[in-house]
Amino acid sequence: MTIAYRAKGNIYLNITNRCSSDCVFCLAKFTDTFCGYNLKLDSEPSAEDILHELELEFLEGPAGEVVFVGFGEPTMRLEVILEVAEWLKLRRISSRLDTNGHGQLLHPERDVAHELAVAGIGSVSVSLVAHNSEVYNQLCRPMFSKAYRAVLRFAEDCLAEGLKVTLSVVDLPEVDIEACRSIAEKMGAEFRVRQLLTPESEEVRA
Ligand code: SF4
Repeated sequence: MTIAYRAKGNIYLNITNRCSSDCVFCLAKFTDTFCGYNLKLDSEPSAEDILHELELEFLEGPAGEVVFVGFGEPTMRLEVILEVAEWLKLRRISSRLDTNGHGQLLHPERDVAHELAVAGIGSVSVSLVAHNSEVYNQLCRPMFSKAYRAVLRFAEDCLAEGLKVTLSVVDLPEVDIEACRSIAEKMGAEFRVRQLLTPESEEVRA
């Protein structure tokens, strides 16, 4: 199983396979492999495991940034993110969180955006998915009933904490891309359209 891997000049950290959504377009539905790495975890790595893997990766050379991802939702493991982000901050290494935006729903007793900022996460890519809650629920099938509003709120909270925020969508026929772009612009976030990954995609076949 792969905990840390390189792609696009960055180091990606695969920290969980658990998720608070069940997206119809999720890569994990049809493969365990991405960019040639097996991302199916036998067990979730501890912060120590991740730091060990990171040290090995950095022996191979620098990286643009370290990205918290997973074949799942990384904020399921908020404590691990915070600990590793602190380690990166001490070494002045940029870090990013790729998330479905459910962090505050998963940890309602905490101020997740603030804790991420304090730990040194520099940017957050939030999966907006859709232009309204109906389409969002249809595509993501989240475990929370008011997830769409919470995703928007989480992105706003991250912006308020001074993090660079990108809202992303997958190019699907159900999604009004321009309406999503407008949501991002009004919020002051960057916007990115991702191509739908299929079993035929290069990243999956690699
Ligand atoms: S949020 Fe990401 S990991 Fe979770 S089901 Fe959706 S695509 Fe998969």
